[in-house]
Order: sequence, then C-alpha cells, then structure tokens
Amino acid sequence: MPLEHRHALSILHHDPLDTPEHPTEELLTAQGRLGRVHSIEWGSMVDGPGLRCAIFLSGCLLRCQYCHNPDTWAPRNGRLVEVEEVIDRLRPYLRMMSLGHGGVTLSGGEPLYQDRFAFEIFKACRGLGLHTALDTSGYLGDRASEEDLDLVDLVLLDLKSGDPDLYQRLTLKPLEPTLRFARRLAARNHPVWIRFVLVPGLTDPVDNLEALANHVAAWPNVERLEVLPFHQMGQYKYEAMGIPYPLANHPEATADQVRQVVEWLRSRGVPAV
Ligand code: SF4
Repeated sequence: MPLEHRHALSILHHDPLDTPEHPTEELLTAQGRLGRVHSIEWGSMVDGPGLRCAIFLSGCLLRCQYCHNPDTWAPRNGRLVEVEEVIDRLRPYLRMMSLGHGGVTLSGGEPLYQDRFAFEIFKACRGLGLHTALDTSGYLGDRASEEDLDLVDLVLLDLKSGDPDLYQRLTLKPLEPTLRFARRLAARNHPVWIRFVLVPGLTDPVDNLEALANHVAAWPNVERLEVLPFHQMGQYKYEAMGIPYPLANHPEATADQVRQVVEWLRSRGVPAV
C-alpha cells in the first residue's frame, strides 16, 4: 500500500476530527484533494498541443544544472489549494482551450512529487472534457498506477540526457527510473513527446545524442522529440534565492545549433522537431 494511503488510514483511525465535515489538511493532502500550486500560466503554446493552461506544482527531487525554475523545488513553496479551486480557476478558460485545441498541462517542479493531487486534478479535468498532459522527468513514474495513467492523454517526458553518467551529473539522480517509466509507457502504447534541452558543451556530445536516439528508437509510442534550447532566463532566480547556479554565464543554445541537432536526430530516424 502506498505510504500516503497508509498515512491517511492511520489518521482516520486516530484523529476524531477527521470526519467528512472536518477533514484535516494532512488527510486532504493524502487524499489528493489539497496540494501546493506554485503558479498557473494561461495561454501557453509550449506545453503540449494547442492553447493550454499550464499548472506548475511545487516540489522536485532533481537538481538539473540548467533548471530555470529553482523556485519550484521546495515542496512548501507554493499556495495550498483544493482541487475544486484549481478547477474553478480553469473555468473561464474552457472556451479558449477548446477553440485552441489545447487542454491542461501539469508541470513543475515535478508534478508526480504530489502524485495524488496531480491525478485528482486530471480526474476533474477529464470530467470537463479537457485534454490532459503530464510534463514529468519520469523519476517518480513508479508512483503512477495504470489507472492513473489512463487519466493522462499525453506524457511530456523530459529526457535530460541519454547517457546515464551525464544524467547523474546533470540532475544528481539516476537515469534508470526515467527509462523504466518510458518502457512502461511504451508497453501500453501511451502517447509521449520527449523533451530534450540542448545545452552547448554539456548535453550535445555526439555520444549523448547517440544514446538519446537509441532510447527513443526503442519506444514506438514516441510521437515527437522536442529539442529545446538552453536559455539563461532563470539566472536571476538563483541570484534572488542566494543559491549557486552551476551554469552562470554559460552560453545559450542558438537556433542554428538546435537546427543541426534536430537534423542529426532526424537522420537517425528520430521524429525530432
Ligand atoms: S526536473 Fe524540472 S523542475 Fe526539477 S530540477 Fe529538473 S528542470 Fe528543474
């Protein structure tokens, strides 16, 4: 039994205030009815197909060198909201999402850090007929059951590196959980877009691109691989937070470098864009 469910049961057992009329914050969180939202972006066109609402949930276990959202790392760095409030805030944009052939994307941080909350939001989105996308590193993919994944129309899987050693250096976590999640998605023929950040001099060695191409070639469910250029838009956040930024003053990826990598991947049969 997952830890959070055990926790919920133990709370139910020992706390007389945990009646349906007086659920505690801890119980609501364990049930996924309450969670921390860092921010919401309306009208995103870069977080999946169409015009979307991107909801950034708090908490992440990775420490990617190029992360431009370090302010989402801390689990408590966000507003505590109920699923109903999230959905109420989506309602004025339902028409925009429908006309724009979009939907809702959960991102972060790492949305699976608050897995119960994430899937409760998706369940409610499905109730509104919205397309759902999960933007994840896949590191916590084991937390998603098959039934949970049934609530997700598209997985945006961030593959930081194809080479396991580089992945570890880049994120301070191992690559294997992400590969395991990707294999599960492939086995269930789940629609996936891979996202890869091109950092010149860091993620662009040909060995790494080869490894990336080999992984993707084994997953026929991958509809596309997006090569995203590394940029420095998050640098000010590190300065404001007073934490070291490993890629301070590192060169950004140019449009030409991205185009070359896309062409190279396409020449290997990868549906890169
Ligand atoms: S997984 Fe995303 S939020 Fe977490 S450190 Fe990496 S880039 Fe940042």
